[in-house]
Amino acid sequence: MGAVVWYRNDLRVDDHEALRSAYEEHDAIRAVYIKHQKKRDFERGTQQARFEQETLENLANHLSQIGITLDILEGKVHEVLTSYVQPDETVYFHKMTGTEEAASEKYIEDKYTTRSFETQTLHRREDIGSDELKRVFTAFRKRVEAKGTFYDPLDPPSDIHLMKEESVDADPEIAFPFRGGESAGRARLQEYLAEPVFTYKETRNGFLRNDSSKLSAWLANGSLSPRRVMAELQKAEREKGANESTYWLYFELLWRDFFHLTMRETGSRLFRSGGLQEGQRTWKRDEAAVERWIEGETGVPFVDAFMNEIRETGWMSNRGRQIVASYLIHELKQDWRIGAQYFEQQLVDYDVASNYGNWAFIAGVGNATRTPRFDPVFQQQRYDPNQDFTKRWT
Ligand code: FAD
Repeated sequence: MGAVVWYRNDLRVDDHEALRSAYEEHDAIRAVYIKHQKKRDFERGTQQARFEQETLENLANHLSQIGITLDILEGKVHEVLTSYVQPDETVYFHKMTGTEEAASEKYIEDKYTTRSFETQTLHRREDIGSDELKRVFTAFRKRVEAKGTFYDPLDPPSDIHLMKEESVDADPEIAFPFRGGESAGRARLQEYLAEPVFTYKETRNGFLRNDSSKLSAWLANGSLSPRRVMAELQKAEREKGANESTYWLYFELLWRDFFHLTMRETGSRLFRSGGLQEGQRTWKRDEAAVERWIEGETGVPFVDAFMNEIRETGWMSNRGRQIVASYLIHELKQDWRIGAQYFEQQLVDYDVASNYGNWAFIAGVGNATRTPRFDPVFQQQRYDPNQDFTKRWT
């Protein structure tokens, strides 16, 4: 009787309860990852595909150190797993946010012996209490902060040594010059916590490499565990002193938790035109307008610069995401879900809950009904007064 570790958005060996448990309980272990078959309108961005490929290569290397082969398959999750898993094997996996993800879990649980674990978020549903709390960020934050404790990350099985990542020597104007994989994610975490984090609160609206952590890409595909990030952040605070900036990194990680726990609660509701709000909404769908937005040809330089950046690099800063989303929704009056789908295909850090949660928030159909609007001209004067960023990308 063997075990299958079913890899999903948890592409690491560190803090991996499923791998650790399978390793302790079985001699024969296989690992499998099923590449998603996209059925959307946009083609997948090359940077997103590259990042996934590098992540899988790094993971396969780490697993090979303990004699586990990572099989990378393509197809529908149900069908692939049905032909891959033997009836007497136990399937180990981490639970993931998302309705399709939950449906796959149920299918596997009904068919096989399974062991499942929760490590995708810092906090868990049972830490929060009432359902209502999850729909209001401030109440959620106060609740988890009052609890004040964190789940400790687990070390990888002792025979695995994380490969060392070469330092990245890249064009300083490329905000996200990083490779995929756990090794690169851990290297970036150390680089960021060594110094830049201590001024995060002042720099986080900027557009360059060290203006924000850039951890989202590794967190999204799980090559970094949020519990490991938090443990290392607390270590840096103990060694060098906590300040408002170090707290703010945790504060932002709480937004990620909030969107995940909300989606786990509300299922597929967020994908409707009216999002989490009651009723349907009518939005325009003008292909030519969307095309100009995607191609960076709206004629608004700040918007076009961000759209060129994401198309070429798979990355856009949080400020940029807010500005271009607001432009698509409030100026072009287009369906917010078209923008969310485009980001889904392009972003190296695409994460279903954070992406759809943020888009819905700006469209006024998320957890709150107010509709934040970002005037690109005012935003440029404030955040790119010398137009360095705009000139670089237009
Ligand atoms: P930092 O500023 O260093 O923040 C640290 C971490 O906190 C991030 O890595 C991320 O995990 C989390 N975080 C920060 N801000 C948010 C936020 N608003 N919502 C949720 N988590 C947050 N984030 C994604 O990870 N994937 C997405 O697909 C995604 N789509 C977005 C779409 C729109 C329209 C908008 C406005 C925001 C989106 N975000 C998304 C949130 C945010 O823009 C990114 O998490 C952030 O820019 C990543 O950069 P960073 O790692 O340097 O973040």
